[in-house]
Amino acid sequence: MGPPGAGKGTQAKAVADHFGVPAISTGDIFRANVGQGTPLGVEAKRYMDAGEYVPDEVTNNMVRDRIAEPDADKGFLLDGYPRTLAQVTELDSMIDATGHRLDAVLVLTVDQDAVVGRLLKRAEIEGRADDTEDVIRRRLEVYAEETEPLIAVYAERGLVVSVDGMGEIDDVQQRIFDALDTIAQS
Ligand code: AMP
Repeated sequence: MGPPGAGKGTQAKAVADHFGVPAISTGDIFRANVGQGTPLGVEAKRYMDAGEYVPDEVTNNMVRDRIAEPDADKGFLLDGYPRTLAQVTELDSMIDATGHRLDAVLVLTVDQDAVVGRLLKRAEIEGRADDTEDVIRRRLEVYAEETEPLIAVYAERGLVVSVDGMGEIDDVQQRIFDALDTIAQS
């Protein structure tokens, strides 16, 4: 977890490789569907372009299908999910049904201004439709309203691992590995 621009996607791939599990990124799946013009993509695009969340039901169904695929049998890393309280509840029931359990909820902490700068830079490089300044501000607002409160929910369960997400990508990655390896060994 972490606000838009915290580096979740980059770090998620490295962490997933490290543990030999797939990284399941809801944002990437939505973008792939948008690119292919599927009905899911057409629906998701309306929300994504405005910086809003795709409705829970759509997102939950997509994640449920994805974690039922064979490569997720032995575990998986979720990037960008859950983002709402309803998604937390739904994820609980999904992983109950598949016999998985949550090992950790990794929170990347970042400086708000730095995050906006990062996102604007990414907009130049990748040309994402949801990386314009207005949409970035809206995405940060939605994160603060809907997603940040989930950290407390998972903290109560003793699952939160907070890592400083500022600095070089490799340094952040090392901090994450150190924190998660400690948990994996315990
Ligand atoms: P991301 O690449 O994770 O920043 O996601 C890009 C966009 O996809 C978000 O701004 C949302 O519109 C949508 N999205 C991704 N994950 C979720 C989620 N868990 N719930 C609702 N919408 C999501």
